[in-house]
Amino acid sequence: SSITSGLSRGIESATSGLSEALFEPVIRLGVTGLSRAGKTVFITGLVANLLDRGRMPQLSAHSAGRIDSVWLQPQPDMTLPRFDYEGHLAALTGDSPRWPDSTRAVSELRLSFRLRPDGWIAGLTGPRILHLDIVDYPGEWLMDLALLDQTYADWSDALLSRMARRPEAAAFLATARAEDGALPLVEARAQDLAALFTRYLGDARQSGWADCTPGRFLLPGDLAGSPVLTFAPLPRPASTARGSLWVEMERRFDAYKAKVVRPFFHDHFARIDRQIVLADVLGAIHQGPQALEDLRRIMADVMAAFRPGRNGWLTALLGGRRVERILLAATKADHLHHSQHPALTAIMQAMLREAKDRAEFAGALTGAMSLSGFRATVEETITRDGRPLDCVRGRLRDGREVAMYPGRLPDDPARLLSPARQGAESWLDAEYGLMTFEPPLRMSRRPGEGPPHIRLDRALEFLIGDRL
Ligand code: GDP
Repeated sequence: SSITSGLSRGIESATSGLSEALFEPVIRLGVTGLSRAGKTVFITGLVANLLDRGRMPQLSAHSAGRIDSVWLQPQPDMTLPRFDYEGHLAALTGDSPRWPDSTRAVSELRLSFRLRPDGWIAGLTGPRILHLDIVDYPGEWLMDLALLDQTYADWSDALLSRMARRPEAAAFLATARAEDGALPLVEARAQDLAALFTRYLGDARQSGWADCTPGRFLLPGDLAGSPVLTFAPLPRPASTARGSLWVEMERRFDAYKAKVVRPFFHDHFARIDRQIVLADVLGAIHQGPQALEDLRRIMADVMAAFRPGRNGWLTALLGGRRVERILLAATKADHLHHSQHPALTAIMQAMLREAKDRAEFAGALTGAMSLSGFRATVEETITRDGRPLDCVRGRLRDGREVAMYPGRLPDDPARLLSPARQGAESWLDAEYGLMTFEPPLRMSRRPGEGPPHIRLDRALEFLIGDRL
């Protein structure tokens, strides 16, 4: 063993990049989902529970004693923002606990494992190192993939006709129709149009409409205010000349594709090995059938990005590489008593099945589950009208601690998901909407235990258990 480690040290100093690839493999884990899905909370809970593994019994490498140590390291991508793990954990577990700031752009965190070999090889080699690079990025950005196949004229046409049926678009459409795209560009007018378009996208999202592209309009990252985000769909004028409003908008749309969408897929997406897609299904169920139906469509679109062959440019970029494992997870499961978790998981399984029905994920392992990145409630059974009721108890913003019965999810997800079911049946009680729990004030935590969660260990086992 001293010979091999001496040898590896020698090679390492000679070619550190090569030696990393050979001796210290890296897994890139993508974490995505629409905004408010729970990405930030998930990553913070996951990292805290990996650093302190007291609550990770379902992670087999841990229960088998193979994990020697886990620590945070400077990430390899020098120009990417670091995921603010310490800040987010301090928000959740400080003296006045609060939810951390949500994901607004791409960020990254490197976690390294020192693993003890087991079996016959244990006596022959020393511990091995594995790096886990967690990449957090908005699901909205993934949906831009569909733009790559479209010209500005096609995109404008299709979008304007969709918008014509939506009340949220009235203000934008009135302004856009009054413009003559053949006239020379006036920058202030372009900015007004882009601002109205952005407002429409925000309102449409609020009302639960599925399409929210271009993704950077809602989550601009560091591009806010740049020309590449100062465009909007316009009716095509009879003639287009250089310098006209329409031609300038077309240029910006093309720049958005070339300078924003493609680099994102090239720099981040194409390098992902394993992926978790998070969804706030309970929130959508509570909002009603329309919101749930839209979430279902969005999830199918998001998942479509992981199917090779859908987009020629992306297929060429990936060059045969693919995401090896994809997990679809419903977050915030701590809003439900565990007796209802199977029903929530069944909904995710139905969504996954639908995404798979459209096309196979060529060889990728897929799974669905429900989890909570940071458990804000405890379970409690109360008696109401003489009968036992399975509740969760948590802390409200005003400081009160209350027990909530959220209502009962149907055991058969088809009853929720079938498009035929557009009657205004409500599955979650009014109580559900009233209760937004804050992170708990006093967490029961023994030394060596991360913050409470639901099934983070199982999620990790699915995502990278084979490599630990
Ligand atoms: P992101 O936009 O995907 O990064 O979403 P966040 O992780 O910031 O989560 C959005 C909000 O959802 C949080 O501020 C919390 O209010 C809530 N949330 C997220 N995860 C959980 C969870 O595990 N339990 C509970 N009770 N609430 C959660």
